[in-house]
Amino acid sequence: MNVVDSEVVAAILQKQDYQITEEINEASLILVNTCSIRDNAEQRIRARLREFGRIKKENKEVSVGLIGCMAERLKEQLLEEEAVIDLVVGPDAYRELPRLLSQVELGQKGIDTLLSTTETYADIEPVRMDKNKVTSFVSIMRGCNNFCSYCVVPGTRGRERSRDPETIIAEATDLFENGYREVTLLGQNVNSYKWGDMEEGVSFEQLLDRVAGIDPLLRVRFATSHPKDMSDELLKVMAGRPNLCRSIHLPVQSGSSAVLKRMKRKYTREHYMDRVEAIRKYLPDASLSTDIIAGFCGETEEEHKQTLSLMEWAGYDLSFMFKYSERSETFAARKLEDDVPERVKTKRLNEIIELQLKLSLAGKQKDIGKSYEVLAEGTSKKSEEQLYGRTSQNKVVVFPRGLVKPGDYVHVKITDCTSATLLGVLNF
Ligand code: SAM
Ligand code: SF4
Repeated sequence: MNVVDSEVVAAILQKQDYQITEEINEASLILVNTCSIRDNAEQRIRARLREFGRIKKENKEVSVGLIGCMAERLKEQLLEEEAVIDLVVGPDAYRELPRLLSQVELGQKGIDTLLSTTETYADIEPVRMDKNKVTSFVSIMRGCNNFCSYCVVPGTRGRERSRDPETIIAEATDLFENGYREVTLLGQNVNSYKWGDMEEGVSFEQLLDRVAGIDPLLRVRFATSHPKDMSDELLKVMAGRPNLCRSIHLPVQSGSSAVLKRMKRKYTREHYMDRVEAIRKYLPDASLSTDIIAGFCGETEEEHKQTLSLMEWAGYDLSFMFKYSERSETFAARKLEDDVPERVKTKRLNEIIELQLKLSLAGKQKDIGKSYEVLAEGTSKKSEEQLYGRTSQNKVVVFPRGLVKPGDYVHVKITDCTSATLLGVLNF
């Protein structure tokens, strides 16, 4: 999401004659786009700010701005605590950047953290900053109305609002015409995308079908689905369109219904399992990934074990795994006690990671001997002679370059794997 937002910011600033530089010492303006989701994300930003302070000492012409969720969460406090910062801009105020920058040029500090109920930046054509020119993100909505008890997002990104579907289709079509072969539609809860009145309006299922209809050669992915809103209708649309990728990210957070209740996730373990069964029924070849939080308020050893057993049952291909980090002003921070000791959180997270490594390896071993259509994305990190790409299931495959170029579709026969990567040969 922040990658897309940075591309929107770049587009706004290009109109003011700013240019992006790869070389930080050439920059007259450094903007750091921030995340507040866990405390360690914010601590990393603070460390970067110290680095920027050194750059600013050497060159008095440099200005430093902090944008994104941390700007929204901490507002003026940032200007008080971090002398290096000239500019603080929240996620809904990027159109104000030119005005705020002219204030900074006059030697003042600039701040705007107003949230909006309508801003989607729908009319702004993002300046693409991806390196491969094959895959890109398209934002379809902003904000979130779910208020999971641990989460800062509704506070830092505001209420949920969907973007005009015509602008989404136009952006995806333009990407395809410029050689891109994959778009990922982004929102905090894409299943609740909704434009206009439902009689004549556009639902997420309809939007997805339209984006997939741009061209069969355009792969379409989306994130994130919320288990409470994931419909059979969506899975049926996917089953009917081979270019809708066979990969579903369905964050579970915990395998215990009691913990899910404290998290205010609005589904139970049983409902989640029912949704996974529906995925298996309509899309038997789909991969499944998730997010898991270890050591949420009041989590017992038994509740933790339920997370492990659900992971085994679902056989996740990939998980993003985190220790619970208390965030001020969330429901959990106000009403629940962060009572799982740090060493217990670490132990539980390690058990979750260890199990996931086993599941990821087992899932990939099953792919050995099979042939997959792979979209080539770029040169492999390890060798110029090899390319990497991904299967529809979102698994990374490394294979010999041959005459293949990034953006080509190739068939690769899988010959070996690690827990993170498939290795294969071209299969003509
Ligand atoms: N909207 C998506 C959803 O509901 O799944 C993703 C939101 S968040 C940007 C990505 C992930 O960060 C969440 O799924 C959750 O696992 C994790 N997360 C959010 N708040 C957290 C917290 N306070 N401590 C630890 N992990 C957290
Ligand atoms: Fe946060 Fe829950 Fe919204 Fe995801 S759905 S962004 S976890 S409040």
